[in-house]
Amino acid sequence: MINEFDTIAAIATAVSNAGIGIIRISGENSLKILGEIFEPAGKNVKEWESHRVYYGNIKEKDTVIDECIVLIMKAPKSYTRENVVEIDCHGGVSVVYRILNLVIKHGARPAEPGEFTKRAFLNGRIDLSQAEAVMDVIDAKNELARRNSVAQLKGELSDRIKKVREEVLYQIAYIESALDDPEHMSLDGFSEKLGGLVQNWIEATQKMIDSYDNGRYIAEGIRTCIVGKPNAGKSSFLNALLGEERAIVTEIAGTTRDTLEESVNLDGITLNIVDTAGIRDTEDTVEKIGVEKARKEIDQADLVLFLVDTSVPFHKEDLDILERIKDKRKIVLLNKSDIDNYREEDYEALKSRLQKEDPILPISAKYHKGMDIFVKELKNLMFHGKIDANQEMYITNARHKKALDDSLESFRCVKESIENGMPEDFFTIDLMSAYEKLGLIVGEAVEEDLVNEIFSRFCTGK
Ligand code: GDP
Repeated sequence: MINEFDTIAAIATAVSNAGIGIIRISGENSLKILGEIFEPAGKNVKEWESHRVYYGNIKEKDTVIDECIVLIMKAPKSYTRENVVEIDCHGGVSVVYRILNLVIKHGARPAEPGEFTKRAFLNGRIDLSQAEAVMDVIDAKNELARRNSVAQLKGELSDRIKKVREEVLYQIAYIESALDDPEHMSLDGFSEKLGGLVQNWIEATQKMIDSYDNGRYIAEGIRTCIVGKPNAGKSSFLNALLGEERAIVTEIAGTTRDTLEESVNLDGITLNIVDTAGIRDTEDTVEKIGVEKARKEIDQADLVLFLVDTSVPFHKEDLDILERIKDKRKIVLLNKSDIDNYREEDYEALKSRLQKEDPILPISAKYHKGMDIFVKELKNLMFHGKIDANQEMYITNARHKKALDDSLESFRCVKESIENGMPEDFFTIDLMSAYEKLGLIVGEAVEEDLVNEIFSRFCTGK
């Protein structure tokens, strides 16, 4: 079994030839190991000082491996709350590995993925939701996602959860004491008071749950499907978004045969775009595969962008597509608006088949016209115009969402028991359950297996 607190080491930077590479060591023996392999320039160091940078050479016996600087952070003022040493060396892959191997030779163990952060958690410096936020900050796909993760890392989610948990625990304790000591503590009118509190907890929990969809869009990107009949300009539009020629643009109908996936950042929002083959009945087998895939993609998409070719009359194919996407969240893009050939009756026919909240925008994919308005409408549609990771906090983690759903369920049961006039000791069971479910988010009462599973998703060195 792996000892939880022996000295661990790992390469903390990406392993590729780069300007610098960092080897991180944490644990009781990290300073001892450093003393054995590092020779500070100029002076004889008797005792390493915390939060200082030393310059010198990493040596294996008499051979200098690299000229480095080392950072010392003594316990408890370090990332893991243990003695931490970071060796900044030159970033060549072989140098970094050689130093890591040397550190291991002198007694450290290679760290498991996420083990530094796991120690920060086990040593009580951060809670579980903050530890997960570390991973999210590393993985952040865009600025909004990063800001949201940093807020979580600072403890914003934990603070909200802890506040509700404290209030719940207080009420549980009150009920139990009152039941134990009915002579001195009265439960008269308690149910009404508790009912008010439960309502607050339900609302607070619901608010966090409601932020999950937006949170997921922010963290993972919006799964987006571009549809339209062949030649409507789907590839051109994708290219306009990407700002580079990646999809094959062609004048022959039906050449975008398979699906392409691209990620594009638009003013802080990430669209994960699948450019599909035109949806239509076709005899061509290769294209059929694409078409089938397109249908599936539409079903899975969070957002559909429907491109209409306004240079030609409204077509049966457009109707078929409309039928298929009628219940999806969508934006209709009237493409080729530069040609200025769109007939009023076609527009009316289209409009009559849309929901009133579906935006319809003229664009020109070829000449990159109408893109600003598109981004504005996109924000309106997906985030009601207001996405601000500075003010709002979004739940982005499915594990947190599940725990919130479960605690909401328990709060609802308490509410029901109150409404049905059940005895007070009945409330405590569900209150306790909500308390425990919320505890899962911050890592209290979390099974060891789950902790291991979460930290194993980290990269090594973190
Ligand atoms: P797809 O089959 O839907 O992917 O359509 P493409 O992007 O391949 O475009 C088909 C044809 O329409 C190409 O010749 C494009 O240059 C042309 N096209 C696309 N967008 C526009 C536009 O906004 N204006 C004009 N005039 N032509 C466009």
